[in-house]
Amino acid sequence: MGLGRSGLATARALMAGGAKVMAWDDAPDRRAAAEEAGIPLADLTTADLSGVRVAAWSPGIPHTSPKSHPVANRLRDAGVPLVCDIELLVRARTAAFYVGVTGTNGKSTTTSLIGHILRHAGQAPQVGGNLGAPALDLEPVSPFGTYVLELSSYQLELVPSLVCDVAVLLNVTPDHLDRHGGMEGYIAAKRRIFEGVMPPRRVCIGLDDTICRNMHAEMTRQDSRDLIPFAAGRAAPGGVCAKDGVLVDDIDGKAAKVLDLTGLPALAGEHNWQNAAAAYAACRARGVAPGVIAQALRTFPGLAHRHETVATVDGVLFVNDSKATNAEAAEKAILCHEDIYWIAGGQPKAGGIDRLEPHLDRIVHAYLIGEAAEAFGDFLEARDVPVSMCGTLDAAVDLAFQHALDDEEEAPVVLLSPACASFDQFKDFEARGDAFKALVAELAADAEAEI
Ligand code: ADP
Repeated sequence: MGLGRSGLATARALMAGGAKVMAWDDAPDRRAAAEEAGIPLADLTTADLSGVRVAAWSPGIPHTSPKSHPVANRLRDAGVPLVCDIELLVRARTAAFYVGVTGTNGKSTTTSLIGHILRHAGQAPQVGGNLGAPALDLEPVSPFGTYVLELSSYQLELVPSLVCDVAVLLNVTPDHLDRHGGMEGYIAAKRRIFEGVMPPRRVCIGLDDTICRNMHAEMTRQDSRDLIPFAAGRAAPGGVCAKDGVLVDDIDGKAAKVLDLTGLPALAGEHNWQNAAAAYAACRARGVAPGVIAQALRTFPGLAHRHETVATVDGVLFVNDSKATNAEAAEKAILCHEDIYWIAGGQPKAGGIDRLEPHLDRIVHAYLIGEAAEAFGDFLEARDVPVSMCGTLDAAVDLAFQHALDDEEEAPVVLLSPACASFDQFKDFEARGDAFKALVAELAADAEAEI
């Protein structure tokens, strides 16, 4: 059920494995694309479900009450287990190591970073899941090779057989609360990453937020699991600390400095130091030597749409942080700069932008777009931040650039870090970031033509 990229990959993999497949999606265009790819369709809202062994469910479709999709209800009534593609991967590839990464923010960066480090160490991991390639498009790894999987809370609800060899929980802050029926449900989904993880397997857990810190304290008291705590904003005794950007390994109780992260543009900001500390902990748990990890961290290229430097045009730096779909993520980017022309807005998330209040002095002017514009505008104006209602990204980029050109300070930055989902105006955050980059490319071309 659900024929996006991962659904199509799942259908193809199941068919290749000899399973009989019935596939469905509410969207007619997706059904048409599947049919064209030779995937047999069946209307699961009415089809006979007797004999169905398992439902490969797209994690994005709600399947629990009160918003449960009618097909989920039918499947449950018919006694069919609902799982996601990662469950099918885990069942098929039992002789593999699994490194699972979850958390509210930083999952993709940390997952890619772990993949990058393991590759640098001469391993040939397969990296995917919620990022990049869907699980069932990943190549088989050699026996005892490693899958590095980014796991969303939605996916974690649908992987009963997954036991991670290294489980990483980065942080937990409010997000997706509507889907999980509040904070408790969201925490329970994230906690799932630790289920079944017993020595010699390893648990890597962040200490920077209260919820994770409490989980760590609870695990320290209650069980004998091999814990590697990590943190960027505080000490991490017995673990990995990246306070002030200095990576220190205390896993064996012999605190040793490994690397200064402060000069690495792809890992700028305290949030990325957290990601680096997490990736370091996970790779040490997979047996990689400190020096090898340090070398790999130095050459990490960074990910598109995550605090991505796009260009400098006439002295104005443009940064694409389209992936910042909530205030927590936007806060991280804002903390990296001081003279910010901020483009924000889109489809609003619960929680608003209240947490940005202490950093508003970094914002020279805000350019607001999308459905959230009015609410953000009210909030910012009440705190004396100048705002312009721009409606669209094009208008926002143009006006922000004009204003930034007149800036007398050293380093004006036009920052797209929307603190909102993109779906009101774009297909996804990638389309939003690509549109931003295209607009910046036009400005750069115009600037060049003028010279
Ligand atoms: P995810 O995959 O969890 O959405 P990403 O690695 O794609 O996370 O990063 C998304 C955005 O979240 C980044 O652009 C950055 O602004 C912010 N971010 C990245 N890492 C962290 C972190 N460890 N803590 C808080 N925010 C982060």
